[in-house]
Formats: sequence, structure tokens, C-alpha cells
Amino acid sequence: MSLWSSDSNRPPRVAIVGGGPGGLFTAWHLERLAATPLSLTIFEATSRLGGKVCTASFTAADVRYEAGAAELYDYSPVGHDPLKDLVRQVGLPMVSLGGSVVFVAGRPIANLDDIVEAYGEEARRELTSFDIRARSGITPAEFYGSGSDHVADAAAGGRFAAMLDGISCRKARRYVDVMIHSDLATEVGETNCGYGLQNYLMNDPAYMRLYCIAGGNEQLMHAITARLAAQVRLGTVVTEVAGGPEETLRLCLRAGDNLQVEEFDVVILALPIDAFKRVRFAGTTLADAMRRHVEHHDHPAHYLRVSVLLDRPVPSLPGDDAYLMLDAFGGTCLYVESARDPCGSHGVLGWLLGGAAAVEMAVLSDEALVAAVLGSLPAPLAACRDHVVESRVHRWTGAVSALPGGWVRRPADLRHRPSPVHRGLFVVGDYLYDSTLNGVFDSAEHVADWVTAESLGARLSARATPFIKPTEASH
Ligand SMILES: Cc1cc2nc3c(=O)[nH]c(=O)nc-3n(C[C@H](O)[C@H](O)[C@H](O)COP(=O)(O)OP(=O)(O)OC[C@H]3O[C@@H](n4cnc5c(N)ncnc54)[C@H](O)[C@@H]3O)c2cc1C
Repeated sequence: MSLWSSDSNRPPRVAIVGGGPGGLFTAWHLERLAATPLSLTIFEATSRLGGKVCTASFTAADVRYEAGAAELYDYSPVGHDPLKDLVRQVGLPMVSLGGSVVFVAGRPIANLDDIVEAYGEEARRELTSFDIRARSGITPAEFYGSGSDHVADAAAGGRFAAMLDGISCRKARRYVDVMIHSDLATEVGETNCGYGLQNYLMNDPAYMRLYCIAGGNEQLMHAITARLAAQVRLGTVVTEVAGGPEETLRLCLRAGDNLQVEEFDVVILALPIDAFKRVRFAGTTLADAMRRHVEHHDHPAHYLRVSVLLDRPVPSLPGDDAYLMLDAFGGTCLYVESARDPCGSHGVLGWLLGGAAAVEMAVLSDEALVAAVLGSLPAPLAACRDHVVESRVHRWTGAVSALPGGWVRRPADLRHRPSPVHRGLFVVGDYLYDSTLNGVFDSAEHVADWVTAESLGARLSARATPFIKPTEASH
């Protein structure tokens, strides 16, 4: 059954709620898949598009830094990488990012030889055996398909803490903790095995590589927006979704003091879980379905970013690494931002704090935070402390998911259409997959394929057969 009457003279009205990557990717896919014109509107609460992909600039010098998402995951060595294809298609240059050094107690550890020298032979044995267990838990091909149900079920198996407890050497365990926590928005032991392993294995180039967009990741958001026909309504908050089964959906909108209600055939909620809590869902069936959706996926995780501008370049790291991992704050990633985006006589360092440390430290003043992160600099970079000209803090408390998919992944259809009787209502989000841009891209493609296939009878690719998990294996 079609989502809207095909004999109607007007084009189908589609609302995308949220102008972050999820909303923009959905619009991108929909406009390319739809066989007939759409009346597509993107509602964004703030005054800018891009959500948590946010490339900001300092004021003391025209130098950029990433305030949100820092890196994109490159799966092309393992299989088709549609996000990387998109970056290429819109003509944006990419920069590979590398980093292998973990500083623990001030000591750089980059390989097994360093482990033996620092912690001894037993630590090497334990880490090797953990590494073998991790690799046999998820192969590169399974990692690539990490949104799919069979991988989730096989690897999710219980808390990651239990797997880490297999490392009895305290120092070896600390090294693994720091390495994983440096990219994680939650505590290492608190997530499930599947997600914990993914965050361990992502450090291995056989599984995936990292890259960013030269000149700032937000350029991808601008490049997509420039190619969209959709109407974009900035500063417009969706406060309520209403509509009975099989009815058109009504959105209550607030733009400044202006309140209005508009009707749509399809509504796609491209919001992170914390934003759902500020939207009212009217009607018992819809409200219940959305409450269950939120409860299932409500595993808040936290980041905090501190960036500092230096009046001189950052000394090069071994192998020209773009980041290193520190044991401060339970494990933090220190980006040499100016390695990815050279800025002449200046330098930029950026810390990504995650999990409990990000929450605890979010209450501190910016000055206190900057002092704390500068105190964490390892010896090779310690002199940077005397060259700070400006600093910026971005708090992302509760903004991401600690347990994408939840403890037990819901069936793909229910995941993206939480109320089956509200056939025009879909959700898109990274929290359904792996808390990354690649994940939200896959989620957007899944919904766009589905809406298009079901409602428009559009050009269907073999992959886009409705209801058969179109993009589950494409990640
Ligand atoms: C510090 C940090 C670092 C990260 N690093 C990486 C990384 O290195 N690699 C990676 O792949 N991912 C990373 N991520 C995750 C990545 O940013 C997310 O996967 C991505 O932003 C999710 O996109 P989204 O559109 O679902 O949500 P968002 O980016 O949060 O966008 C949602 C949009 O919806 C808008 N909105 C909210 N409520 C309403 C409403 N009621 N009405 C209208 N609009 C509304 C918001 O203003 C926002 O613009 C990071 C995230 C953070 C916070």
C-alpha cells in the first residue's frame, strides 16, 4: 500500500526533522531515488545545518578546528564504502589520519616490543592472546557489516568488561583500556562485547582506516546542502508529532514566537535519542511506540572537546601521526589538528574526553578545563603549554549513544519504523547502528530506500528491495 495517493495532483509532502548529517544524508538519498518530484522540507532547530559535524574557527587567527566529529571511517579496503564515494562525488579532498602511540604513565607504547620493554613478557603474552580473541570475535568482513543482525547477535554477547577481565596483567589491561577509551563516549567495561571489540579493532588498519576532509569535515554538510532541492527551515523546532494510524502526520512547529501546524505524508525523524525526549508524540498508540523506541535506545554517552590555538607549530609526532592516546581522564585522544589542516605559523591541539570524565569535567569552567588538559600533555609536547593564544571548549553531554542498537538489536523494520501502524513515520540515527557518521549514512539510506520503494515505486536497485534489510550489509 502506498504512503500517499498516487492520483493526487500534488507532490508527496516529506518532512525531515533534524538538519544534522542524518537529515541531510536522508534528503540526499531521497532526492536521488525518487522517481517523481517530492515536496521535501528539512526542519532544523538551530541556525545552522550539520549537527555534531561542526568545524569552528578561532578568533585570534583564522584557523579551523573540529568541535564535533573528527574523523570518518574508511571501509574501502574491505568493501564498498558509500560514504567515501559521496565525499569523492562532491569533490572534497580527503586526508588520511594515523595514530598508533599510547602514552601510559608518560611512556610511549606503539608496538609489542615497547610492551615487552615496559611491562615484560607476560604482558606481551596476555595482549597477544586478547588480540587473537578479539580478531576471532569479529573478522574484518563482519566489522564491515557491523550494523547487521547476525554480527550484532554473535558479537554483542554480554558486557565487554567480562572479556577485558580475561587480561590478568594489570598494566596490559590498562594499556587496552586507554586505547579503547580514547575514542569511546562511555566507560570501556559498560558497553557490550560487540561495540567494545569494534572500538578495539578500529585501531587496526586491516579492519578500517581513518580520514578527514581537508579544510574541515563540515564542508561535507555544505556540499550536500548546496546540491539539495529541499526547502530548509532553520530555527524551526518540531515540538509535537501527531496523527492516527493511516492518517497524514501533523507537525507542531515553533519558529521564534511563531507556532504552526503542518501536514505531511511522510515524516522522518533524524534526531539523536536525547532530542526525542523534547518532542511530544500525541495519541496513545504513537506515544507508546515512541516511548518504547526511546527506552530501548536510551544509553546516553558523553564527549567533551577542548581545542587550543598555539602561536607556533606543534612538534611532529613519530611517523607524522595525527593523534595520540593518553592515559589522562581514563583515556583520551589528543589530536594534532594542525597535522590534518596545516595552519602556517600556528598549531592546534584538540582533546577528546569521553565517558565519565566528560561528564565530571563538563561542570568545570573553561579555564579550569584548559589547565587540566594542558597538564596532560606528554613530555614531547609539554612545551606547547607556553604557546597557547586561545582555547575553546565544547560540551557534548548525553549527545551520543553508549550502546548503539541497545542490548538486543530490534528487527530492522521496527528499528526504522517504531510504530508499524504509523506507516509514514520513520526514524534515522547513528544510535541504531554504531554511533558514527558511517552508521547514520547507512540508516539514512535504509529509510530513503524504504520510503522510495514503498511509496514512489521508484527505480529500485537490487539492494533496495523493501523489507529485506536493504542496507544492513552495506556498512
Ligand atoms: C565530540 C563528538 C565527536 C564525534 N566524533 C565522531 C567521529 O570522529 N566519527 C564519526 O563517525 N562520528 C563521530 N561523532 C558522532 C557523529 O557526530 C554523529 O554520528 C552524527 O552527528 C549523527 O548525526 P545526526 O544527524 O543523527 O545527529 P546530530 O548531528 O545531532 O543532528 C541532529 C540535528 O537535529 C536538530 N534537532 C534536534 N531536535 C530538533 C527538533 N525538535 N526540531 C528540529 N531540529 C532538531 C539538532 O539541532 C541537530 O542539528 C562524534 C560526536 C561527537 C559529539
